Amino acid sequence: MQLSMENIGRLREMLAVPSKIVVVAHTNPDGDAVGSSLAWREMLLRMGHEVTCVVPNKYPYFLDWMPGIENIVIFKTDTEGRARRAVEQADMIFCLDFNTLSRLEILSDTIAANTSARRILIDHHLSPGEEFDLVFSHPEMSSTSFLVYSIIEAMEGTDAISADVAASLYVGMMTDTGNFSFSTLTPALYRAVAVLAEKGIDIPQIHNNVYNAYTEGRARLFGYAINRKMEIIHDGQVAYMSLLENEMRRFGFQQGDSEGFVNYALTIKKMKMSAMFLAHRKFIRVSLRSRGDVDVNVFARKYFDGGGHRNAAGGKSYVSMEETIEHFRRSVEEFAREGGIR
Ligand code: 5GP
Ligand code: MN
Repeated sequence: MQLSMENIGRLREMLAVPSKIVVVAHTNPDGDAVGSSLAWREMLLRMGHEVTCVVPNKYPYFLDWMPGIENIVIFKTDTEGRARRAVEQADMIFCLDFNTLSRLEILSDTIAANTSARRILIDHHLSPGEEFDLVFSHPEMSSTSFLVYSIIEAMEGTDAISADVAASLYVGMMTDTGNFSFSTLTPALYRAVAVLAEKGIDIPQIHNNVYNAYTEGRARLFGYAINRKMEIIHDGQVAYMSLLENEMRRFGFQQGDSEGFVNYALTIKKMKMSAMFLAHRKFIRVSLRSRGDVDVNVFARKYFDGGGHRNAAGGKSYVSMEETIEHFRRSVEEFAREGGIR
C-alpha cells in the first residue's frame, strides 16, 4: 500500500511550527523500535523541534553502540522523572513500532494521561488501535524503520538522510527482516537499502555490532536451551522451549540474550512453528515464529492474549510454566484441527 499523501500533508502541517515532541516505542524495544525512534528523533530535531525519546524498559545491550542511543530515556529506571515531564509537556507524541497503547505496559497510563497531545502512530503491526489522531499503519512493510524511511522520502526527499539516520534505519530494516531473510522483502526495501548504502554506512560493521556482540553466557545458554530444553511435537512440525528464572540466572542472563532462540527451531526441515516461553517475575513471556501460511498472529491472539505479525508474534501467560506448556500443547492440537497448521 502506498503512503497516503493526505496523511503526509497532515503530518507536514502538524510539524510546521516548532513543538515539544515525545517519540515512544514498545516494551522490550528491539532493533526496529530503537532504530526507527533514533532516526525519527534526528529528523525532528533538524526540523527545529524539541524531542525526547522514551522507551518503557531497557533495550538489549547489543544496540548500545547506536549513534544517539544515550539520548533515549528508559522509563523504568528514570528516577529523575525526565520521561514523565516530557510526556506531560508534549504537544505531539509519536508512537513507533506498536499498535495500541497497551503495548507500552508500565508506560501506558503516563502516555494516555496526556489527552491534549496529538498522537501519531507510525507502525507496521496489524490492527492499529483507535487512540491515535493520525495513523500511518503499514502491516505490509517489513519494519517500522522502512516506514519511517518512506515518510522521510515523501516529506523531504532522501537528501535529508544523514549517515547516522541511515545507520539507525538500516539496523531496524536488518533486524526485523532476520537479516533480510523473511518473506516480507520487496524490491522497494532493497532500493531503500541502496540509498542508505550511498550515505556511507558500514554494513559489515553494523552486522557485526548487532549479531556478533553477545556474551559467553549467552552462547552457553543457547547451547543449553537447544540441547536440553527444546521439545518437538506434532509430527516434527512444532517446537517449543522454555527457560526458568534460575536457568537464566545460571548463565548471567541479560535483556536481549534470548534474541534469536525462538527462530532457531525453524532451521529444522519441515518445522512450521516455534515457541519460546521465558519466565519473568510476574508472568511468562511467549514468543512465536512460523513459516509460510501458519499464522502465529492469530494463534497469539487466540491463546496467549497477544498478537504481532503472521510469522512473528508474542503474548503472555499468567500461569506456571507447566500449565503454560500444557496450554500450548492443547492449543497447538486445536489450532491444527481447525486447519491452522498447513
Ligand atoms: P518477540 O517474540 O520478538 O518479542 O515479538 C515478536 C512480535 O510479536 C513483535 O512484532 C511484537 O510486537 C509482537 N508481540 C510480542 N509480544 C506481544 C504481546 O504481548 N502483545 C502483542 N499484541 N504483540 C506482541
Ligand atoms: Mn518492528
